[in-house]
Amino acid sequence: MSFDLNAYLEELRPLINLDCGTLTVEGIEQVANTMAAKYEVMGGWDIKRVDCGKAGTGLEIRNKPESDVIDVMMIGHMDTVFPVGTAAKRPMSTDEKRAYGPGVSDMKSGLLNIVYALRGMDKDVLDSMSLCICMNPDEEIGSLHSEEWLKSVAKSARHVLVAESARADGSLVKARKGVARYKLTFKGKAAHAGNEPQKGRSAISEMAHWILAINTLTNFDTGTTLNVGVVSGGEGSNIVPADAEAIVDVRFWDNDEYALVDEKIRAMAELPFIDGVSVVLEREAYKPAMTPSEKTEA
Ligand SMILES: [Zn+2]
Repeated sequence: MSFDLNAYLEELRPLINLDCGTLTVEGIEQVANTMAAKYEVMGGWDIKRVDCGKAGTGLEIRNKPESDVIDVMMIGHMDTVFPVGTAAKRPMSTDEKRAYGPGVSDMKSGLLNIVYALRGMDKDVLDSMSLCICMNPDEEIGSLHSEEWLKSVAKSARHVLVAESARADGSLVKARKGVARYKLTFKGKAAHAGNEPQKGRSAISEMAHWILAINTLTNFDTGTTLNVGVVSGGEGSNIVPADAEAIVDVRFWDNDEYALVDEKIRAMAELPFIDGVSVVLEREAYKPAMTPSEKTEA
């Protein structure tokens, strides 16, 4: 099959020129309808609409729905991170090198690339395999309403490919570090630094202990690293600070090692360094590491 770039771009355009940020269900519905229609036209695909609650519709498309095993599952997401109005403000445009617009690379082109791959496949090869294409409506908020469904389908799949572009050179990504982000809120007791400083409990001093303790949890050899990246606190130099806040980023290859780090800092929050100061720990984000195994290599 020859590749016609202009035809590709014209097929991409209606997927870009609509607002379909996560939870914008009308837009998601339109993307789902547009994508489903492409498979209908191709023929031979069983198209199932999956209810993803308030995130809207997901699509599960198979060529052998009766088969217990899926040889290759391909995943893509239909949502973007952009608010309503973005498509009108900056609809799809192109120059000699690139296409621009909300979701061009993340990841409407990925959804379309799957379709192009399938259209271009030899029919005998296609018929010899059990394929499943899943498109979820809420990846940008961590697939909150579609995770269970995707996992349940993936259990039957021998191979799973995510069709989102990842590296500028087109490389396939088979490994990714895990990431977690914590917010630490320190609550002490304010006091005038001149008149009665002994009555105060410094939230910033507590935070200082934490920063040093957190730094000791880093292990460059194994790749588990912690970074206290943002701190704030205090109201004035003449006041013992009652409040402080720190944001900590954790990266890791080893999910078990991360679990230990998580355990340690949760335990630290139970036992503050300074009497009279309390610490609230919130994990704001978390994604486990994707570590390649022998199966990945295969
Ligand atoms: Zn994406």
